[in-house]
Amino acid sequence: MKNLARKFGTSVFDDVIMLERLPATTYQSLRRSIDLGVPLEPEVAGIVAAAMKEWAVEQGATHFTHWFQPMTGITAGKHDSFLTPQGNGTVMLEFSGKELIKGEPDASSFPNGGLRNTFEARGYTVWDCTSPAFVWDKTLYIPTAFCSYNGEALDAKTPLLRSMEALSVQALRILRLFGNTSARHVESTVGAEQEYFLVDRALYEKRLDLKICGRTLFGAQPPKGQEMDDHYCGRIRLRIADYMHQLDDALWKLGIPSKTKHNEVAPAQHELAPVFESCNVAADHNQLTMDIMRMIAKRNGLACLLHEKPFEQINGSGKHNNWSLSTSDGVNLFHPGKTPYENIQFLVFVCAVIRAVDRYAGLLRMTSAYAGNDLRLGGQEAPPSIISIFLGNHLTDILTAIARGEEEPQTMSDVLVTSVATLPNLQKDDSDRNRTSPFAFTGNKFEFRMLGSSASISSVNMVLNTIVAESLETFADRLECSKDFDAEIRKIITDTINQHGRILFNGNGYTTTWREEAQRRGLLNIPDAVRAAEELLKKETVQLFEHFGVLSQEECRARYEIMLEKYSKTVEIEARTMLQMACQEMMPAVVRYCGDVADQLNSLEKAGMNVAAVRRRLEQLTHKMNTAFERVDALKHSLNTLPSLLPELAVYCRNEIRPRMEQLRKQVDALETEIEKKEWPIPDYTDLLHRV
Ligand code: ADP
Ligand code: MG
Repeated sequence: MKNLARKFGTSVFDDVIMLERLPATTYQSLRRSIDLGVPLEPEVAGIVAAAMKEWAVEQGATHFTHWFQPMTGITAGKHDSFLTPQGNGTVMLEFSGKELIKGEPDASSFPNGGLRNTFEARGYTVWDCTSPAFVWDKTLYIPTAFCSYNGEALDAKTPLLRSMEALSVQALRILRLFGNTSARHVESTVGAEQEYFLVDRALYEKRLDLKICGRTLFGAQPPKGQEMDDHYCGRIRLRIADYMHQLDDALWKLGIPSKTKHNEVAPAQHELAPVFESCNVAADHNQLTMDIMRMIAKRNGLACLLHEKPFEQINGSGKHNNWSLSTSDGVNLFHPGKTPYENIQFLVFVCAVIRAVDRYAGLLRMTSAYAGNDLRLGGQEAPPSIISIFLGNHLTDILTAIARGEEEPQTMSDVLVTSVATLPNLQKDDSDRNRTSPFAFTGNKFEFRMLGSSASISSVNMVLNTIVAESLETFADRLECSKDFDAEIRKIITDTINQHGRILFNGNGYTTTWREEAQRRGLLNIPDAVRAAEELLKKETVQLFEHFGVLSQEECRARYEIMLEKYSKTVEIEARTMLQMACQEMMPAVVRYCGDVADQLNSLEKAGMNVAAVRRRLEQLTHKMNTAFERVDALKHSLNTLPSLLPELAVYCRNEIRPRMEQLRKQVDALETEIEKKEWPIPDYTDLLHRV
């Protein structure tokens, strides 16, 4: 235990190190910037840089990098060494304040959605001092935001930071109205539960689809998938346990509070949950976690799959974004307290979420929409593509009672009787667990469950922060000019339930009755990423983001283009990978196998045997083979007639390419089940899922 405490954060330039190594005035100045978001004084940067370099070099660092999150969904950074030749054959290790604060990577090689003119390729990375620097792999990592020459956001972090600020301002207004004078800011806190698969590296290397696309494009169903429910929270195999130990170790050193690990529902599937942190740091840490997961897997002869749907017919992986609000005094604003009915401030914040999610459901849906997640949402394993909120009956009853003008809601039993003498009766959670809801209140936080496992969490938190800021602003406006505070609160709650209550749903989200009911309620059902991207162009979206200075109209447009571009490229690459595998691996094996069977058929016939059954099978097999070839041609053809412009290209990829890929897959998977195992050129589902 002591060991763990000592190990935690040893590779991070954190508060303890800063206190130890910075002059008191520098430390205070930096702290002010971190806590209050005030701009950093230039002299301070120089002193911090010197201390940071000295510390990093002691940690074994030779390089530094401005680490940023371009719109690729992953992180980037070029690495510069500290080395500065002195001209006399000697070198010094240098790192200036300027180098700490600002970098200038070429922006032209990252998705920018048309924000950058081709003649102006420069982009800037700017130090984000609110997320601590760290040393990893002999390099000092400096978290940065990434902007164009004109200050437009080219990354996931910049708008997230802007949204945090907007939220803090509006939340503070509400807190002040309730008499809170001590909170200096309010921040959203996030804990991102991360699901993943581990497969054997040697098998992974033999599958082009896994290597190139992160998911299997072919693969017949194995005799045993997840039917037995025997994997979830089951015993962790030694090889996996060893991986998890190494992973925790690496994460802890980097100050990432990895807390919980267990086996997930599907075979070879696992989950990691960290303790929550400020949302910006949580976003950085989740990116880092994914990088380290992959790296440690490779070191151990494993491959970590973070795709949201690596295997068909088997649960994919999600990422649950647990989101809450916390004051600088450490008070969780979604903590109902002992008597929720009396806890009016809590109800106001809950109403802000209800109103926000109902008004901007499409935008929230957009944050979980991309080619990979389209394969997962709406099945029986992940929330449907309809946004709704699960509040639990208790809280729903309280709010509807208030909206109806009732004084007291019906009392609820909140003790869980175990009926086992040796077990204590437990205080019931305020809300039962509902695994089917896309957005669930889970006692003191909201859990957004729609994200796929590979997603960056920045976008969803940017949206949550901004839409809730908008509701809080409206409430604060009303409350600030009302004569009767209590009456106005009641009215706010009543209006919220009357106007936005349709978004509340405590039932099973997986059923078709819910889909029908949602339609009757007028809730949006956005089936795919191409449609979801349009949410970024809507007038109300642009107005919202511009009003809070989170994204400009141009930035919204750019993000729309990037979404569609990414979708189209993903589908195109998958289709080409499929063709390559089918033409160069599977189909040749099928032809060869059919030829072998034909040879055997001949010799058996010559020997005077009755081979009617073999002949029939061969006929069926060659028929299937011919159909597969036709489907190869159909997919090839559709790739040759791609529209050149967006959004047509994305629509075409969705409507034409994806269905043809499915058809080809179906046929090849059927062939796989008919062919001798040793003739099949790639590892099958049983190999991948059960031979870890
Ligand atoms: P469960 O989902 O089983 O209820 P927990 O309550 O332990 O599990 O939380 C799951 C995730 O939610 C963890 O990553 C945890 O850190 C995070 N979480 C807990 N409290 C908060 C909070 N106030 N803000 C954000 N995330 C939180
Ligand atoms: Mg969860």
